[in-house]
Amino acid sequence: MQIPFFRPIVGEDELNEVNNTLKSGWLTTGAKTKRFEEEFAKAVHAPYAVAVNSCTAALHLAVEALHLQKGEAVLVPTMTFAATAEVVRYLNATPVLVDVLGDTLQINLEDAEERIRKSKIKIVGIIPVHIGGMMVDMFKVQEFAKKHNLWIVEDAAHSFPAAWRRSENEKWKYCGSGDSEVTCFSFYANKTITTGEGGMATTHKENLAERMRIMSLHGISKDAWKRFTSSGSWYYEIVAPGFKYNLTDVASSIGLHQLKKAELFREKREEVANKYIENMKDIEEIELPPTDSNRLHSWHLFYIRLNLEKLKIDRNEFIEKLKERGIMTSVHWMPLHMHPYYREVYGFKESDFEVASKVYKRLVSLPIFPDMRDEEIEYVIKNVRDICRENRN
Ligand SMILES: *Cc1c(COP(=O)(O)O)cnc(C)c1O
Repeated sequence: MQIPFFRPIVGEDELNEVNNTLKSGWLTTGAKTKRFEEEFAKAVHAPYAVAVNSCTAALHLAVEALHLQKGEAVLVPTMTFAATAEVVRYLNATPVLVDVLGDTLQINLEDAEERIRKSKIKIVGIIPVHIGGMMVDMFKVQEFAKKHNLWIVEDAAHSFPAAWRRSENEKWKYCGSGDSEVTCFSFYANKTITTGEGGMATTHKENLAERMRIMSLHGISKDAWKRFTSSGSWYYEIVAPGFKYNLTDVASSIGLHQLKKAELFREKREEVANKYIENMKDIEEIELPPTDSNRLHSWHLFYIRLNLEKLKIDRNEFIEKLKERGIMTSVHWMPLHMHPYYREVYGFKESDFEVASKVYKRLVSLPIFPDMRDEEIEYVIKNVRDICRENRN
């Protein structure tokens, strides 16, 4: 059996909508993107949503709108994708990498506090990452941000749809609806919903939404957006040297229908996760991802951590053995401080981030996608179990 790491689901609805858009004569940003923004904002209970061509673009626009500049620094967990820290570098500011918690892989606020104390540079913001789709405790992040006078930009590339609450008596708060300055989502091909490439920035602050919108299209003033409608004219004004980050109507055509199916996709991934957990919880050589009754988990990733002291093989050999049996996996991620750029420019050592450096060597992300068939799920479980048994210490 061959099991891919991920299989996107694009149905007839998406195909028909794209077809309709291609025939309409309006391919770039227009009415469908506007509708996609409105419907996405509604879905996450956010007042404003700006559609862009990637989550990286959304993160860049967010920190730009917050006036991040040279001589300032931002707290970023070391366990994340390249984008979270590189956007800080785009503005010539410094990413202050922070160690993570061993179970959730989320930013460790105690370590963050310590790094603020030691920092010679002024720290102005924090970018928590909802890794795998289980949200960070945003209440704690808000308290932390208030105490240290920081803005918050959420890297929600994994967490649509997702929600959190502090206790079972509270109502769910949707990722993207919170008090953070900006929340950034990804619609990359293997994310929870896709537009091929795409992203969204949500915010509750009108001025941030306006700045991000202007900067997403060459710094052309807000009114010039009207030129994307039939009432538009040839005239526009440039108010800043902006970027080219707008999402096309072709992409939004896919997004409109993915959005409708997002909760169904999430439930199906949750079923896969529940089957994995139910049938692998007795395997002593692995540790399963955490769950929390106060989280609506998007289940973008299902990562296991190998108990290496119980195995004769290392993580890479474990991955090779799964691959030999047709099961594709991934690692999320090699922490940023271990990459040459961050090592060389900032002089990081593995011992500067003990938890992340150690857990990285144990991480394997198993396949999880909405239309994963029972026999595929069972095949993964059987082979994880067999590899553990055959390579027991
Ligand atoms: C995928 C990803 C991004 C970037 O998303 P793009 O839409 O590809 O730009 C950012 N952060 C995290 C944590 C991601 O996994």
